[in-house]
Amino acid sequence: MLGVRVDCVDMTSALRRIESLVEAGGHHLVATVNPEFVMRAHSDREFARALDSADLCLPDGSGVVWAARRQGCEMQGPVTGTDLIPPLADLCARREWRLFLLGAGPRVAADLAARLKAQHPALEVAHHEGSAEPSADDETVRVVAEHRPHVLLVAFGAPKQELWIERAGRRIEVPVAIGVGGAFDYLTGRVPRAPGWMRRAGMEWLFRLVRQPWRLRRMAVLPVYAARVLTER
Ligand code: UDP
Repeated sequence: MLGVRVDCVDMTSALRRIESLVEAGGHHLVATVNPEFVMRAHSDREFARALDSADLCLPDGSGVVWAARRQGCEMQGPVTGTDLIPPLADLCARREWRLFLLGAGPRVAADLAARLKAQHPALEVAHHEGSAEPSADDETVRVVAEHRPHVLLVAFGAPKQELWIERAGRRIEVPVAIGVGGAFDYLTGRVPRAPGWMRRAGMEWLFRLVRQPWRLRRMAVLPVYAARVLTER
């Protein structure tokens, strides 16, 4: 999409792909691509390179789904990090895979880990607030590596989380690392999510904008994104 990879997947096939990436071992990056990612990749080469190296790019947001449908992809709807985490935790519990939650604000990852553990008592889940600053890399890598996770969720926001995974995450043997943005905040109720009808109508962005007006600067790229999608050949 405008030079950025987006995989034509729904939730079921995304989970299947993640399952086979974990089974394959090694190190894989999964990105949750929204229109802001696409636009940023045009001006930020380091971020574009990180996205290029991703093994799976999930369609995160109605703007990406709209553009994908124009290209003939029969997508039911977005596959967001927030929607992915509960079934992914279920998968990890069933397969006895260790899950690690990294990032977000104070106590957020700890809170989410406790909630997931309550829902899946068999789940092995660890957490660390950490920091996206390169000066913290050694410490963060040490803490995460100690738990030997199969799946690592990184909530530092884009592009920090993808750059962290490329720079520091590669030093850890973690089969799947996923940048999940503000998903921990939504799943712990710290930030309210748009009601279901608004999400289904592809209006989640409007709800976020009203609740978090500081997003306006970031969202200013959206009309340019839409114009480029409409004129893309
Ligand atoms: N965050 C962080 N460290 C940072 C910057 C952000 O842990 O240096 C967290 C922040 O607390 C939030 C998430 O990263 O939980 C990013 O949220 P944002 O709403 O920006 O992500 P989006 O969902 O828009 O991608």
